[in-house]
Amino acid sequence: MHIPLVDLQAQYTYLQKEIDQALARVVQKGDFIQGHDVSLFEKEFGQFLGGLSVASCGNGTDALYLALRALEIGPGDEVITTPHTFIATAETISQVGAIPVFVDIDPHTLLIDPKKISAALTAKTKAIIPVHLYGQMCPMDQIMAIAHKFNLKVIEDAAQAHGACWEGKGVGFWGDAATFSFFPGKNLGAYGDAGGVASQNVELIYKIKQIANHGRVEKYEHLVEGINSRLDTLQAAVLRVKLPHLPLWNKARARIAESYCRLLQDLPLQLPSIDPKATMVWHQFVIQVEERDTLRKLIEESGISTGIHYPIPLHLQKAFAYLGYRPGDFPIAEQAAKKILSLPIYPEMTQEQIASVCAALHKACSLLISS
Ligand SMILES: *Cc1c(COP(=O)(O)O)cnc(C)c1O
Repeated sequence: MHIPLVDLQAQYTYLQKEIDQALARVVQKGDFIQGHDVSLFEKEFGQFLGGLSVASCGNGTDALYLALRALEIGPGDEVITTPHTFIATAETISQVGAIPVFVDIDPHTLLIDPKKISAALTAKTKAIIPVHLYGQMCPMDQIMAIAHKFNLKVIEDAAQAHGACWEGKGVGFWGDAATFSFFPGKNLGAYGDAGGVASQNVELIYKIKQIANHGRVEKYEHLVEGINSRLDTLQAAVLRVKLPHLPLWNKARARIAESYCRLLQDLPLQLPSIDPKATMVWHQFVIQVEERDTLRKLIEESGISTGIHYPIPLHLQKAFAYLGYRPGDFPIAEQAAKKILSLPIYPEMTQEQIASVCAALHKACSLLISS
């Protein structure tokens, strides 16, 4: 039996009729750019999040760029974020001309450690981008307390956290804005690139829509220099079919995570640590283990696909060599990168598949112990 890390085919099979109809409707109507489904999706996704304004855009990377631009973060500014994330989080900070400043992570949750933020603050610090990695929100009460004290903007990178909460308050209700990716493998995925920004601030969302559409106020009148980052109507149509299923899909992910925790509890692995204040949406199920590479090889031999999110901390990426960081600067992130392993998790996963993954892990662990 082969078990993939994510199975997009299973979801399409389930929704095929509705998706095919939605796509055909757009093609027949021909409103490919800024069509009806785009504004409807923005409204519906805002409702899903609990009542936020939404600006859709081309992808989750642009969502970060647009939020930074609209919050007027630019040349000379410093923005604090985590080295344990996908490169987009930091790439966009330098795209607006600002400087990414990394802060080490919590060894249990693997999220940015608020206790370490103060030491990284300078007179130039303008914003924090906490990343709600794997579907768990960062300790937003602590992060917002720092932000208020030092007058910093906060952009929540929620590319992996559609519908997550902290202390019962949803993603996007804490910071100035939350950014989303609808990359196909995310909890809510399009059939190509797609993204969006959500906020309580209607004017900020208006500004983001403007920047994302060439800074337009009229067809050929441009208020600011913008970019072309509009959500395709075809993608909006797919997302609108999927969105009503997202709450149940997130619940299914939580049930799978629960099964994993129960079936793996006796193994010499570190299971995910969830803060009691967090409502998790389980984008990834990430274990930590010293002999990660050997274990990974063993379970892949049993047909189980795995992932590493992410193998190289951002401060050690060649792309960021100019920032001047060195190995040892963020020891917890560096250690985590060597130990993390993402197991298959997707809503359509069957109990049988979960059992197979766990059986492969049991077998691999006993081989590791006896060797
Ligand atoms: C996926 C992801 C992004 C980027 O989203 P794209 O839609 O691929 O541009 C940004 N941040 C995090 C944490 C992500 O997981």
